[in-house]
Amino acid sequence: MKEMKATMDKIVNLCKSRGFIFQGSEIYGGFANTWDFGPIGVELKNNIKRAWWKRFVQEDPSTYGIDAAILMNPTVWQASGHIESFGDPKMDCKNCKTRHRADTLIENHSKGKVSAEGMSNEEMEKYIEEHDVRCPVCGKRDFTPIRKFNPMFTTSRDMTGEASNEVVYLRPETCQGEYVNFLNVQRSTRAKVPFAIAQIGKSFRNEITPGNFLFRTIEFEQMELQKFCKDEDSMNYYNEYKEKALQFVKDLGLDCEHLRFHDHDKLAHYAKAACDIQFLFPIGWQELNGIHHRGTWDLSRHQEFSGKNMNYLDPVTNEKFIPTVIEYSIGADRLTLALLCEAYDEEVLDNGETRVVMHLNPSIAPYKVAVLPLQKNLSDKAKDVLNILNKEFMCDYDEAGSIGKRYRRQDEIGTPFAVTIDFDTLENNTVTIRDRDSMEQIRLGIDELVDYIQKRIKFN
Ligand code: ATP
Repeated sequence: MKEMKATMDKIVNLCKSRGFIFQGSEIYGGFANTWDFGPIGVELKNNIKRAWWKRFVQEDPSTYGIDAAILMNPTVWQASGHIESFGDPKMDCKNCKTRHRADTLIENHSKGKVSAEGMSNEEMEKYIEEHDVRCPVCGKRDFTPIRKFNPMFTTSRDMTGEASNEVVYLRPETCQGEYVNFLNVQRSTRAKVPFAIAQIGKSFRNEITPGNFLFRTIEFEQMELQKFCKDEDSMNYYNEYKEKALQFVKDLGLDCEHLRFHDHDKLAHYAKAACDIQFLFPIGWQELNGIHHRGTWDLSRHQEFSGKNMNYLDPVTNEKFIPTVIEYSIGADRLTLALLCEAYDEEVLDNGETRVVMHLNPSIAPYKVAVLPLQKNLSDKAKDVLNILNKEFMCDYDEAGSIGKRYRRQDEIGTPFAVTIDFDTLENNTVTIRDRDSMEQIRLGIDELVDYIQKRIKFN
């Protein structure tokens, strides 16, 4: 298996020092499990989101994009079951003051042999006592009773200017936006089942055990789509999206040895199948994305709670039915973390020095090209070159320090190409272009640069 050189600490430090990602509200001591994307990080994440949209929306004529509101009618969350049952069973360790999920404690203690799905709070508490399940942090068994913990953040809307504010929820998942717009999209586009609705947007979860940098945060972005299909075709689409989801992350640069499918053995009562794609993060194998067969549950519940008929009328057979849904959902932040971990490399050079290099797929690299005048007195010419290139690509410009140090800086942020302007450039309008991975340089005419770079950064 390909060795991963990244550790979480190395990634967090590099992200901070190079401007990928900073701790949220850092000057106030931070705000736990929030992260701010800096100048380099925002480019990386935007490129990842663009690649996803290109693959799943632009290149698939049967998928329609939307951007639904974060704040939704609170009844949506009754229909989805979040208000009633999205509560995780929380226990606090009285000794070390850490918070845990009772079901996870039981499942980890039994090494996955016992499923806490369907256990009542009393049954879980009894199991924990009888099997001497201890706090994984301090080793003591001194828990509070289980309390249901609803991970939806609430806010309120002052409707009247008086005290009677209406509770409003920050959405814990984006997919409800697709379900409530199923008929709008179908009618306005004249889409025929099977078709999909996709979106990228923020979700918020008051997670019990957030942490591990971007892996589990309380505010994150999801890239997801819902495929609406006939029930008899649903397992085919489920399998198709498993493959498409895997191919996408491989094409972005995740090594196939660091990826695996993980089928769920506990299924929601309405689901026929569910699986994750897991990635070998520095913290171990963990979920990267999910593919879920959701049956007709979501649309049926919205029909029940809204009173609106969610049936689709097949124009050929005249059959009326509620479509079955296959969901594919991946966290943009979690994928960013996976790609950073995969790309991180420490290479020992011939001169004994170590260079840190991010072998990011060029299509998602924050800057595609760095423009570097060999000496400061070449900066006018270098800026002319920059002004040609930045019409096409995100570029960095750097004239400070030795050329070797400047190359290293670009290696650390994954810039695939560095263009150096030297004295020959003034004579013959040629530059050197250095490849990040091989460190080889070739000489090209300035007028050849755009084409050369464009061909090498495409995401197909
Ligand atoms: P997990 O089991 O890790 O909590 P989940 O099964 O609850 O995830 P889904 O609700 O299926 O996740 O969400 C789809 C995707 O959204 C996940 O595969 C993950 O990539 C991302 N995601 C979910 N929760 C978080 C979070 N708290 N922080 C960052 N990304 C998240």
